[in-house]
Amino acid sequence: MPLRIGVIGVGYLGRHHARIYSELEGVSLAAVADADQSRGKEIAEQYGCKYFPSYPELLPLCDAVSIVTPTTTHHAVAIECLAAGKDVLVEKPITVTIEEADDLIEEAKKRARILQVGHLERYNPGLLAAAGMIQKPHFVESERISPFLGRGTDVDVTLDLMIHDIDIVLSIIQSEPVEIRAIGERVLTDKVDVAKAWIEFENGCKALITASRLAQEKLRRLRVFQRDSFVSVDYQNHEVRRYYKEGSGIACDVANPEKKEPLKEELKDFVQCVRTRSRPKVSGVEARDALRIALRITEMVDVR
Ligand code: NAD
Repeated sequence: MPLRIGVIGVGYLGRHHARIYSELEGVSLAAVADADQSRGKEIAEQYGCKYFPSYPELLPLCDAVSIVTPTTTHHAVAIECLAAGKDVLVEKPITVTIEEADDLIEEAKKRARILQVGHLERYNPGLLAAAGMIQKPHFVESERISPFLGRGTDVDVTLDLMIHDIDIVLSIIQSEPVEIRAIGERVLTDKVDVAKAWIEFENGCKALITASRLAQEKLRRLRVFQRDSFVSVDYQNHEVRRYYKEGSGIACDVANPEKKEPLKEELKDFVQCVRTRSRPKVSGVEARDALRIALRITEMVDVR
């Protein structure tokens, strides 16, 4: 039996969820729901499924759902889907408050439902290829900057962009943050548009994370420094370089892993977790950990 999946919210990103589910083996894209009728109907027609203007109507047709509505609506939509017994993939950030995230984690646990959060950069082939090159990180630097596109401005850049890097840094360093310093500014919106955070971890590792939606160019890069080598990941080109000492010079190994669409890998993983009832790589718990730090950074930026 194919797994019946519905997509709630088919705007910029949700249409890609719908496209991928319509192509995945063993999955049937049952329906899409979107408050914008012309948008919803267009996507339903394109991918050959039912359309509903209101998401509760879609639930009886589905075993699982992707929630790709604006971040401020994640909690209200996800709690209703979980309460209806559906497995849920909710886009990042999980919610806008820790209380809301706790509520979703609790509901998923109570109903024995899968709760996965869309931290798609975890499925970037470059990052996955780098994993075997990272042994004992001492310092991690991450940058995610892009020109202003007007998207994601219902939340601060810390929740929209930096959350990806906070989650990745936590997964690499595997230690508790003990000190955080941050700076940032509201420039084009009434939310934080640019932020830089310095995080010190219990195990002595440090991280410097930059996020901006005000840049001239687009750059998404991670660098991990450790004794005798450093590893650089280019998220856009899915490329990894490892630099290390060789004699009196510097050598560099370049890895170009097979190009794969991170979102497709993430959705395949969700389907697998639903079928095997396994814990997702980024469940509500990991997503809440990243959210907690993103909110602390936002608060620090706001205190002046
Ligand atoms: P968007 O505004 O383009 O699309 C949101 C859609 O949801 C719209 O079509 C809107 O009509 C619909 N909608 C709003 N409220 C609804 C409701 N109650 N019921 C049904 N439909 C509703 O936004 P977007 O850029 O696609 O972002 C959506 C989410 O995806 C956000 O949480 C964002 O953070 C996340 N996102 C994640 C990534 C990533 O890299 N993982 C990238 C982009 C966006």
